[in-house]
Amino acid sequence: MTTVDLKAQINSLIKLQTIDSEIYALNHEKEAKPQEIKELEEAFEQKKQSLAVLEKNLLDLQKQRKDKELDLASKEEEAKKLQTQLYTLKTNKEYQAMVQQIEGIKADASVIEDKILALFDQVDKAKNESEKEKQKLKEEEKLFLEQKKKAEDRIKEIDDRLAQLEAQRKQVTPDIVPKILAQYERILKNREGLGIVKVKNNSCQGCNMLVPPQVINLIKMYERVITCEVCNRILYTDE
Ligand SMILES: [Zn+2]
Repeated sequence: MTTVDLKAQINSLIKLQTIDSEIYALNHEKEAKPQEIKELEEAFEQKKQSLAVLEKNLLDLQKQRKDKELDLASKEEEAKKLQTQLYTLKTNKEYQAMVQQIEGIKADASVIEDKILALFDQVDKAKNESEKEKQKLKEEEKLFLEQKKKAEDRIKEIDDRLAQLEAQRKQVTPDIVPKILAQYERILKNREGLGIVKVKNNSCQGCNMLVPPQVINLIKMYERVITCEVCNRILYTDE
C-alpha cells in the first residue's frame, strides 16, 4: 500500500473548496433567477391589466354617449313629426294637448342633451387618463424588458463561469484519492457547499463550535482525515 501524503491531499481539497464555494454561490444565484423573472412578468402583467380597465371604461362611456345621441335624435324626430301634425288638428283642445306633448318631448330632449354634454367631459377625462397610462406603460415595458434581459444575461454569464469552474475542478480532482474525494463531496452536498473548513481560534469555521486541543493535534499529525464532531466537515489548520 502506497502511503498517501495527507497534507498534500488537504491542500488539494482546500483548492477544490475555493472552486466549489464559487460554484455553490453561482448555482444558488442561478436558481433564484426564474422566480425573479416570473415576478417581473407578473408585475408588468398587472400594469397592463390596469390600462385595460381604463380602456374599457373609456369604451363604456363612448357607448353611453352614442346611445344618448341616438335617444336625442329620436326625440327630435318625434317632436318634428308631431309639429307637422299640429296643423292638421281640428279642435283647439286637440291642438293644446299636442303642444303640451311636444313641450314634454322637448324637455326630455333637453335633459338628454345635458347628459350628453356631461358624457363628453367624462370621455375626455377618461381618454386623457388612458393616454397617460399608455405612456407610462411604454416606459414600464422598456424597464421590464431591460430587467428581464439583465436577469437572462446573468444566467448566461453564470453558465459560462460554471463551465470554467468545472474545467478547473477537473484539474484538481485527479490529485485527490477517490475515497477522500467522495467523503468531501458527500459533506459538500449535505452541508451547504462547504466540505472542508479551517479551524481558527480553536473553533470550526463551518459551525463555529469549539474544536478540542486534542483534535487540533490530530489534524496537525496528518495521519488521517479529521472531521468536526458537530458539523462533520473536514477540518484543517494552518496555525
Ligand atoms: Zn463544525
